[in-house]
Amino acid sequence: MKVLLVLYDGGKAAEEEPRLLGTIQNKLGIANWLKDQGHELVATADKEGEGSEFRKHIVDAEVLITTPFHPGYLTKEILSTAKNLKLCITAGVGSDHIDLNAANERNITVIEVSGSNVVSVAEHVVMSILLLVRNYTPAHEQIMGGGWDVAPMARHSFDLENKVVGTVGAGRIGYRVLQRLMPFDCKELLYFDYAPLPETAAKAIKVRRVESLEDMVSQCDIVTVNCPLHEKTRGLFNKELISKMKPGAWLVNTARGAICDAQAVADALESGQLGGYAGDVWNVQPAPADHPWRKMRHPLGGGNGMVPHMSGTTIDAQIRYSEGTKKILENYLTGKPQDPANLIVENGDYVSKAYGQRDSKAAEKKEEVRTDGKA
Ligand code: NAP
Repeated sequence: MKVLLVLYDGGKAAEEEPRLLGTIQNKLGIANWLKDQGHELVATADKEGEGSEFRKHIVDAEVLITTPFHPGYLTKEILSTAKNLKLCITAGVGSDHIDLNAANERNITVIEVSGSNVVSVAEHVVMSILLLVRNYTPAHEQIMGGGWDVAPMARHSFDLENKVVGTVGAGRIGYRVLQRLMPFDCKELLYFDYAPLPETAAKAIKVRRVESLEDMVSQCDIVTVNCPLHEKTRGLFNKELISKMKPGAWLVNTARGAICDAQAVADALESGQLGGYAGDVWNVQPAPADHPWRKMRHPLGGGNGMVPHMSGTTIDAQIRYSEGTKKILENYLTGKPQDPANLIVENGDYVSKAYGQRDSKAAEKKEEVRTDGKA
């Protein structure tokens, strides 16, 4: 069996830190295990363009493993060259880098390590909310630059207490974000999602469901995006939706960059319609040097909390998604069924509802797992 791993190049950091598992140097910790069983493993970071290693090796690979942090974008066209491909594993959460309809046409299984980094992301969201609301980043830049001037920093710094916070998507991450916000005594916690949370789960965090997205964002001081990228969420936060938000509201998106219209966000931040924008996900990764989100700022300075795609790849998360990847491979090699909570598409159909296939019968399998009260 040939396994193709598309991961980022961890360079010196990965040589010094073996727990940086999501790198071509450390290969999710599965290289020896696979080689000892006689399988071929190719690891590469070279994923863009006609002559890339990704394109060269996908042609005869049986298994593709990639992370959302440095995704090998498996388009329909590239898929058509992948003659032996049977299994695509996302080492992490979020499989929008794969053309899932095309995978279904070819009966290719797409599976991820659900839940592996949801706490890591939820913590990052809470941090990002705080750093925007408190105006942390420009104040820190001022200190690093040798300055000391409180007033321009304090004029755009607020308390999180008594603010309204809403999440788009109240799944594993969205729910955990709200849970972690409880001690901050926000005025209200809101969510917009297709299905209501189980009553006990909603009561436990005192969250109110709002049935229209426009309605929810218009009530929020802070909006956090925690839904998958699919046909219905691509470009969701465009000029029009952002104009429905409260002037000066903060927006945090660690879900997927393409859920927000890049230029609309930059324009809204620069006009002050957004008080700040933070996240770690970009519509193209790695983001080009001239991406508008790199340098955008609020008129009062700051308001930009962007980092590279890292919220779900803490050392703890890397250990979890590497172990999860190994388990998926073990199941595959021994013919055991996969955990339904991990399956995105299988046997030519969607198992997960999360990618917009709302009527799929098979989706019920995953829903049973999701509504076990754990969110
Ligand atoms: P999840 O448990 O499947 O929750 C996602 C929730 O969003 C589900 O309740 C889903 O409803 C809902 N949803 C789907 N479309 C929606 C829409 N248009 N409006 C409102 N809600 C919608 O997934 P998760 O584990 O929380 O992860 C969410 C996303 O975070 C992933 O898909 C991934 O893109 C991103 N993520 C990012 C990182 C990172 O490092 N930055 C790491 C992990 C995950 P249904 O189930 O009914 O469709």
